Amino acid sequence: MSITPLMPVYPRCGVRPVRGEHCHLISEDGTRYLDFASGIAVNLLGHSNEHLIGAIQRQAATLMHVSNLYGSPQGEAVAQRLVDLTFADTVFFTNSGAEAVECAIKTARAYHQHAGNTERFELITFNNAFHGRTMATISASDQDKMHKGFLPLLPGFKYAPFDDLAAAEALIGPHTAGFLVEPIQGEGGVRDGSVEFIAGLRALADEHDLMLVFDEVQCGVARTGTFYAYEQYGVVPDILATAKGIGGGFPLGACLASEKAARGMVFGTHGSTYGGNPLAMAAASAVLDVVANEAFLANVRATAARLRARLEQFIGNYPDLFELVRGKGLMLGVKLRIEPRAFVAHLRDNHQLLTVAAGDQTLRVLPPLVIDDTHIDEFMDKLSAGAASFLAKDPEQ
Ligand SMILES: *Cc1c(COP(=O)(O)O)cnc(C)c1O
Repeated sequence: MSITPLMPVYPRCGVRPVRGEHCHLISEDGTRYLDFASGIAVNLLGHSNEHLIGAIQRQAATLMHVSNLYGSPQGEAVAQRLVDLTFADTVFFTNSGAEAVECAIKTARAYHQHAGNTERFELITFNNAFHGRTMATISASDQDKMHKGFLPLLPGFKYAPFDDLAAAEALIGPHTAGFLVEPIQGEGGVRDGSVEFIAGLRALADEHDLMLVFDEVQCGVARTGTFYAYEQYGVVPDILATAKGIGGGFPLGACLASEKAARGMVFGTHGSTYGGNPLAMAAASAVLDVVANEAFLANVRATAARLRARLEQFIGNYPDLFELVRGKGLMLGVKLRIEPRAFVAHLRDNHQLLTVAAGDQTLRVLPPLVIDDTHIDEFMDKLSAGAASFLAKDPEQ
């Protein structure tokens, strides 16, 4: 037998973390890494936040799971907080980002079909989007590498170039149910949509009675310096998928919707065994205690401005390696002149710095939101040493 017990779908690297200490990870062999990946935008409080640990420990000892057939004081409380903090009137809890997007897709279709418009099922999505790995969410992405071997795709998705409002408008037809878009593409390369594009989609949705669905699974929950990224665009969605940071490391997602958008989501139409169980709600509640306030968000913005200024100044030293810095808040991308994987591996293996590769030749910088200037200094030192040693190793790069 040559297949590994862990299904070999991930090309796993040599780092084998066994412990976390605030913004650092400690590997099986004792090596200490600066974690500017945060489990891909998940561990927003770092790795050993006492408030989060205490909340999970207390809830685990009290009540871990009950069925959604019963009343949920824990779920009601967290849903109410999300309703108070956002555009939403109602919330469905899931266990992952893909399930949150899945619920968003169903909610958008049901909005039309509940009213008898059964021909309206199509969502317009965008090139290089990432929405998850279920059949519906891979069908929502135009990326061949995610489709190969899993055909046929689900019908009902059309793809337009990202940030191209005219192309999106041209795809609207009698089957269109709405738009599904990441305001800031994550896997696609930390590309932030322009205000004209995002606000333009809102205007088109209003004009044609379409659902505007934001996938904020990566850019949401304080990462960009506002509680959700859409707040920086001056428009609200009808439906929003959130996950990653919202449990601070505990698996949790949610689909947020306005009352109007959720008109089709009535008794018996959707469900999840674990979604929003008391343990997950304790984690979410602890995360919200820390991040959902103006002082924390202002600190994220200030920290992000300092990190970005340092990065922008630094990349000028290596114009053959770095092109530009983009993104919002602490969701930053450094666009390289080369494919990012070798450089990400070099920083990891030779300088104990964890970052993430993304599309469009981009190195993603996704630190915990609780970093301070000592972490920024450590990051810049490692990045600077890493760039020098990378180019010395292979001057052809
Ligand atoms: C990670 C991600 C998803 C999928 O989340 P999972 O928890 O892996 O299912 C969906 N959309 C975006 C934008 C993401 O970054």
